[in-house]
Amino acid sequence: MTATRRRRIAVGQLWQESHDFNPARTEASDFVVERGDELIMRNRDASSTLGGLLRRLDAAGVELVPTLAVRARPGGRVAGEVYRGFRDEIVATLRAAGPLDAVVFELHGAMTAEGCGSAELDILKAMRAVVGPAVPISVGFDLHGHIMPAILRTLDICTACKTNPHADTAEAGENAADLALAMLDGRIRPVTAYAKLPMLPRGGWETTDEPLATLHRMAREAIAAAPGRLLDVSIFNVHPYRDVPEMGQAIIAIADGDAALAERSVAAIAQAMWRWRERFKDDFASIDRALDRVAARDPSLPLVLSDMGDRVLAGAPGDSTAILRRLRERGLALRGVHPATDPASAARAIAAGIGATVRLELGGGITPGFAPMAIAGRVLHVSDGDFVQKGPYQGGQRSTLGPCAVLDCDGQTVLVTTAAGMTQDPAAFTSQGIDIAAHDFVVAKSGNHFKISFAGVAVPLVVDTPGMSTHDFHFFPYTQTRFWPMHDLQLDAVPVTFFGADAPPARRAVL
Ligand SMILES: [Zn+2]
Repeated sequence: MTATRRRRIAVGQLWQESHDFNPARTEASDFVVERGDELIMRNRDASSTLGGLLRRLDAAGVELVPTLAVRARPGGRVAGEVYRGFRDEIVATLRAAGPLDAVVFELHGAMTAEGCGSAELDILKAMRAVVGPAVPISVGFDLHGHIMPAILRTLDICTACKTNPHADTAEAGENAADLALAMLDGRIRPVTAYAKLPMLPRGGWETTDEPLATLHRMAREAIAAAPGRLLDVSIFNVHPYRDVPEMGQAIIAIADGDAALAERSVAAIAQAMWRWRERFKDDFASIDRALDRVAARDPSLPLVLSDMGDRVLAGAPGDSTAILRRLRERGLALRGVHPATDPASAARAIAAGIGATVRLELGGGITPGFAPMAIAGRVLHVSDGDFVQKGPYQGGQRSTLGPCAVLDCDGQTVLVTTAAGMTQDPAAFTSQGIDIAAHDFVVAKSGNHFKISFAGVAVPLVVDTPGMSTHDFHFFPYTQTRFWPMHDLQLDAVPVTFFGADAPPARRAVL
């Protein structure tokens, strides 16, 4: 009788999307941290990339070796000492783990750690140094990851979710796990083709919007036309609010040993994307138009208004009161729920206690150019702000608003938080005792994901508001990178570079 040795695969997660122009640093207290058995128990049912990869590896009979799972909501750069602490713990866990067959991880791809630049490049280099060149490293990224050749040189499999809002993050994890297992079985010899377009689209970021919808259809059709040979195509739209070199759209295809096949897919998508660059546009409602829509709504469901310029999910501080302010100016008799990041006001309301009336200078304390708004209200609820997201985006994951208070301000419900909150998820509100259905509208600091998480709860409407997550890139002082439309770049070709065991030299794709 032959006993087959059980495969041992290290797993973990490092997740934060950094807004390099947000002055508020992301600190240790902003992170949820899980290790050991807790990492597996708390994430194996989650609709996240980590959840997907854990379920797939577990079903394959793999011994899971947990390293560290850390995640914070998008926001300012991560404090250097905080990131280095995470990295050192992951490295120490890998060192202590004994022989490993592979490493399968969830990384965001757009995390800036002070003093390190790209946290993903830094952690991947560190992990590669521990496990050596022969152990496959497979990573499921967010499609807003910033992928550059240096990252692709450190890993074997680079895949991402394919939808925005991200409804398929679990599939990205399953994909990362499946491709790692296929490598270990000797069933595939992956070769990756990569092209980068120096452009940030001015809108049309959802994958059901054109022209992105057609580009993703091209990717799916290419895979369907070469089953088992073209293994994956990911289109990385990149998080735009980072001041780092090589910003742009990355198109990545993985084929089984066939570099030309991967190259054809990448070249076709890069050509179409560049040709269609002027077609990436949005047409959002003004605040006035949005409030008119609320007033005229079908009363069966409230509206959920996306505060596009102050999206916490894009790393903005969440401290805008623009919609509340305009509602007051117009004197409209509409009941809204308004989240605002404001640590000092949250502390004052908590200290005053439930039932007390407080006067606050609300919000506007972090975003350059914003000002606080004077309000008075009665404190209805206070808490530590911890909650579990309902999803589907990040469903089952723990999150926090930090110490927070709910106030009734002349019929407006104000949720004052210490941390920038993941308010794309209705659980951010319901966990604080807020009855969304009793309001005419609720404001979410999200531009895309709120649409799937509020389905059945409220009708989504994206509102053109000011702030740090605007699509007007002229608002930001980029110094490290040149991209269209900030610069009038004339391109007639881009290089396609290859990675993997049989990678040929780079070739040019004509645009
Ligand atoms: Zn994303």
